[in-house]
Amino acid sequence: MQYFDCTPVIRASCTNGALCSRKTRPKAALRSKFIFFNNLLVVSLRVASHIPRNASVFLSHFVASNSATDVFRQVFGAWLLECAVHRSAPLGTYDIPPPHDGDARFSRSNDSLRESDVRLSVRSISGRQREEKDVIPGEFTYHRPSSVAEAVAILVSHGDEARPLSGGHSLIPMMKLRMAAPEHLVDLGGIADLKGISEDGGTITIRAMTTQHELIGSDLLAEKLPIIKETSLLIADPQIRYVGTLGGNVANGDPGNDMPALMQCLNASYVLTGPDGDREVAARDFYEAAYFTALAPEEILTAVKIPTPPAGHGYAYEKLKRKVGDYATAAAAVLLTMNGGSVASASVALTNVADTPLYAADASNILTGSTLDDATVASAVAAAEAITDPASDGRGPAEYRTKMAGIMMQRALARAADRARS
Ligand SMILES: Cc1cc2nc3c(=O)[nH]c(=O)nc-3n(C[C@H](O)[C@H](O)[C@H](O)COP(=O)(O)OP(=O)(O)OC[C@H]3O[C@@H](n4cnc5c(N)ncnc54)[C@H](O)[C@@H]3O)c2cc1C
Repeated sequence: MQYFDCTPVIRASCTNGALCSRKTRPKAALRSKFIFFNNLLVVSLRVASHIPRNASVFLSHFVASNSATDVFRQVFGAWLLECAVHRSAPLGTYDIPPPHDGDARFSRSNDSLRESDVRLSVRSISGRQREEKDVIPGEFTYHRPSSVAEAVAILVSHGDEARPLSGGHSLIPMMKLRMAAPEHLVDLGGIADLKGISEDGGTITIRAMTTQHELIGSDLLAEKLPIIKETSLLIADPQIRYVGTLGGNVANGDPGNDMPALMQCLNASYVLTGPDGDREVAARDFYEAAYFTALAPEEILTAVKIPTPPAGHGYAYEKLKRKVGDYATAAAAVLLTMNGGSVASASVALTNVADTPLYAADASNILTGSTLDDATVASAVAAAEAITDPASDGRGPAEYRTKMAGIMMQRALARAADRARS
């Protein structure tokens, strides 16, 4: 496979209010098409002569600055919705519509969307590879370390070119689609230390390579943290849950994954192990933007630590999906404790209604101390809806997904309250 180091840059410009695409080298005209695939923006370009036709270009870097994300979304929002309708179309051309006249956000050069904000890598694909590209990942070197220290050393020596491999049920599909092309895969499956679930001093520790299937079968979790089983059963299907791991699910950074919001709801923290040892990052601070997290390239997420909630707590995970095995259109996790008729503590988090999972702090505060009367619930739901910022995509327009987040929260709240009272 031949790689072109041409790093094209999509820019929102210009003083005339139009959008343009350009790339740095080699010189070629670009017309681009964008689609969202499992929350990842995929850019396909038809390019001029000296880059083979039908080169595929994937968004490989998207700086996690809110301003860049906002500008990007504002610029491409309506366009993405249209592309979602044509998502099964082959690579092709797409003319970028100009932004609305008079919209202040587009009125002058968008300095906040700099070259470093959106970077694309272009790879040429031969005819045969083009036919195979959706089923066969690119070449990589496979490593199977037997200790965390050994795995970290491999990551350190290969930097950005290496990626940990857990269940592979997010990473391998991305590699088949050429959305990820790591040169070194570091399989964590041979590290015995990364398995197991235990409780010590009011904290439940789940090691990273514990599969979703093992979460469902754990007696300890069934007794102390049943919301984990409830949520796991809503992930994909049994085949995927046999191999998909908790560590991979929370480290992945895909806003469509269900475990991250649940971990925020439970106030979990992640143990990240790197060349300098361990550090802990709260799940509520870990997610920076889609596929951008606090994890450094040379670190491995080795465990998830969760404070054990009090016995008798109420809980529920509600997920709206288009079909069994689908990612959420919107989902909500609720954990609460009751004291008499009122809420002693409440925690709410949302899945797939923003670039990151969302801990709904205001909604949680509004519920705490209340009797869950209708007015309080309505106000908490409104507070949760207010922090959502979903993409319009194949799962529906943004407004619909925001509303569904509110409804999922309301349903989860009602079930959690019933469980806490019984
Ligand atoms: C058809 C289908 C439907 C699915 N539906 C859902 C769904 O409804 N909800 C849902 O939540 N998920 C869903 N998934 C994803 C599935 O749960 C994945 O298994 C999970 O997201 C990733 O876990 P993994 O162990 O397979 O990780 P991998 O695919 O191996 O890794 C994912 C990413 O995390 C990194 N990584 C993995 N482990 C670590 C670690 N320990 N430390 C640091 N980085 C690490 C990898 O480098 C990679 O970038 C679905 C997958 C498929 C194929």
